Formats: sequence, structure tokens, C-alpha cells
Amino acid sequence: MASIDPIGRNEVTGLANAAGRVAADDVSALVSLPPFPSSAMDGYALRSVDVQDKPPYELKVVGQSLAGRPFPGRPEAGEAVRIFTGAVMPQDTDTVVIQEDCNATGDSVVINIQPNVGDNVRKEGHDVRQGELVVKRGQQLTPFSIGWLAASGHETITVSTRPRVAVFSTGDELREPGSALGPGQIYESNRHMLRALLQHLPVEVMDLGRVADDPDETLDALKRASKQADAMITTGGVSVGDADFVADAVESLGTLEIWRMNIKPGKPFAFGRVGGCLFFGLPGNPVSAAITYLMIARPALVRLCGAEAGEETSTMARLTGPISHKPGREEFQRGRMRLSGTETRVSVTGDQSSNRLATFDQANCLIRIPKGVGSLASGDDVEVLPLFSLL
Ligand code: AMP
Ligand code: MG
Repeated sequence: MASIDPIGRNEVTGLANAAGRVAADDVSALVSLPPFPSSAMDGYALRSVDVQDKPPYELKVVGQSLAGRPFPGRPEAGEAVRIFTGAVMPQDTDTVVIQEDCNATGDSVVINIQPNVGDNVRKEGHDVRQGELVVKRGQQLTPFSIGWLAASGHETITVSTRPRVAVFSTGDELREPGSALGPGQIYESNRHMLRALLQHLPVEVMDLGRVADDPDETLDALKRASKQADAMITTGGVSVGDADFVADAVESLGTLEIWRMNIKPGKPFAFGRVGGCLFFGLPGNPVSAAITYLMIARPALVRLCGAEAGEETSTMARLTGPISHKPGREEFQRGRMRLSGTETRVSVTGDQSSNRLATFDQANCLIRIPKGVGSLASGDDVEVLPLFSLL
């Protein structure tokens, strides 16, 4: 993570295309919101000096103030203005009494309660003041940041340029879904899964297809990817089998900085660089590819995108069944967590073999099992990471 530099290129984009992008600068409000004192409710705006005795009070209604259509005059002593939510407080008024606490009679209104000064009034800048920070540099823009940027007057925002991420899979056995399977062949899943995962990030995906288990083709693919992309993700061919050429190819063209991680699944994971292009070599087993993407490649890509890492939103949950685990490797199992009364419980989604994408069926979290611990019993507390927070 420390060795990964943000992409460092920026561009200006309209709000319509800004969701999910990363702010390249701090952004402050161009105007205050609301820009004027306004009513928070439907009712009557009055001058608190007129209601200092004992309710009920009878005031003369001299006009109305609607959202976007202010009352042009200035109420005198003993006068009130009919007002609606979001409307400008008329001059000299400082309090709104909600209509449920009033009786309107002809051109006057009876206030049945004793209001406090400032009741139901939003002060100017109550939400945000002009010049205040609304978006921080490095923040990934949510739909709510987009709303806030608009409310504070911004039509466009400067964001980090989307890094180009090339994806290719390796394996002689792989065929595209839709084609017929020959002997020993399976349908390719990793590349399709990764493309879908990458849609959650502000990156531009380049699909470089499938590459055969062949040293020259692997070298070619790595060269092509490194010329066109800021980062590449490959799957398969990175273990120690006779048909695994990826790690050697990276070493011959660039540098292999990490190879093999102490995690399960995902042990064969590799990281390096080819030219200026980051290389993430994910294992071929689909679950291993998914876990190493979520836990290693994705946080690194987020950093490449110029974003500050978000807080990890893990929590504790009680196991509903045992988990067998040998101390030595940190393990991530797929689980389903739910609230039961006041307790969060989590169950494992069946046989956790690393080829079984079926373990993601109904899964909504990963269960993190620290490398030091042994087998866990039903009722033990474990750390769980909600899947939505890892996307
Ligand atoms: P490898 O890491 O290349 O040794 O592959 C490990 C296992 O994952 C093998 O059973 C492969 O057939 C399978 N595999 C590799 N790549 C893919 C892929 N893209 N889609 C589905 N399965 C794959
Ligand atoms: Mg392979």
C-alpha cells in the first residue's frame, strides 16, 4: 500500500457523472444553505415582542411568504405573516408558530400557545455556511455528496482521472460462456466477476480476454497490458504448477515484489510492476481470486484512484456452528450474518473450498479468522466484514 502512488491526473466533470469519483481538491460551499433565515414549518411568522404576555394572542395577518415567493413588506406591531416551509422569514419576524397551534379567523390569527423566540426558524447557513468544507480531497463522492455539492452551488467538480485497469485471465481450459465445452474445459468466470467488481470503482476497465498457458503468450499479454494500463489484474497461472508462467513473466519484464501471501484462500497471490503498470496476479480458483481482489487488490486500486481508504466497517458476530481452522494462515470464510434479538449471529455458507463460488450464494459477509487461532466453536465471537463495505 505504501508503495502505491495516486494516479495524479485530474479532470473536471459535471455532477451528473461525478458519483463514485474521487475529489481531487477540497471543495467549499459557494453559498450558505439556506441563504436566508427561513421557516421550517407551515404556520405563522411573527415578532416575538408581540407575544410577551399570556396566550392566546390575536394578530393581524398582513400577507404570506411561500418558498421562492417572499413577503415583500415589513410587518408592524401586532401583525403576522402566513408562512410555509422553506419560505423567507419576513423582515423583523423571528418566530414561527405551526398552524396546528393557531386558529385563523378572517384576516387575523389566534395563537393558542406561548412560543419561544426562534421556534421553527432555520438560521441562515443552518445546513452549511458559505466557505465551509463540503467535500474533502480524496473523498469518494456518494450520492449524498453530489446532493450537497449541488445545494452549495457547484455545477462541476475536479476529480481524479479514472486509472485504466487491464484484466486478463490465463488457462487453456477456459471457454467463454455461450460456447460449447470440449473435454476438460470449463467456462471462464473470474474475468467476468472481476469486471463486475471493478464497476464499483472509479476505474476504466480494459478487458484483454483470455491468454493460453504459454510463456510467450503470457509475456505478450503482460507487455500489451503494461503499455495501455495503469494497473493490470490477471487470474490463474500464478501457482507453482508446470503450466504457471505468470510470475516468471512478470519477473523477466519488471519486478515481482510480493509472491505468496499467508492467507486462505489466496496463497499464490502475486504483486509487482511491469514498467509503470501495477501488476496484481490473482490465483485461478474463483474464490481465491475474489478474496485476494477484495482484501488486497481493491484497497490498492482505491489508493491508485486517489481516494483515502475508508474506515473498515467490521463488527463482531456469534458463530452458529463450529469452524475448523489450523493456526498458521489468516482465513476468510464466506458467511451470512443477521440480527437475532440484540445479538448478531453468523453462519458459514457450506463447504468453503476455494473453487466453490457457491459459497458466495446468500453470503453477506466475510468471517475473518486470525492466523493465530485454532478451531472455533459454536457460540464463539468472530469478526465479520460486511460484503457491501468491501465492494
Ligand atoms: P490456476 O491458478 O491457474 O492453477 O487455476 C486454479 C484453478 O482455478 C483451476 O481449477 C482452474 O481451472 C481454475 N480457474 C483458473 N482460472 C479460472 C477462471 N478464469 N475462471 C474459472 N476458473 C478458473
Ligand atoms: Mg491455470
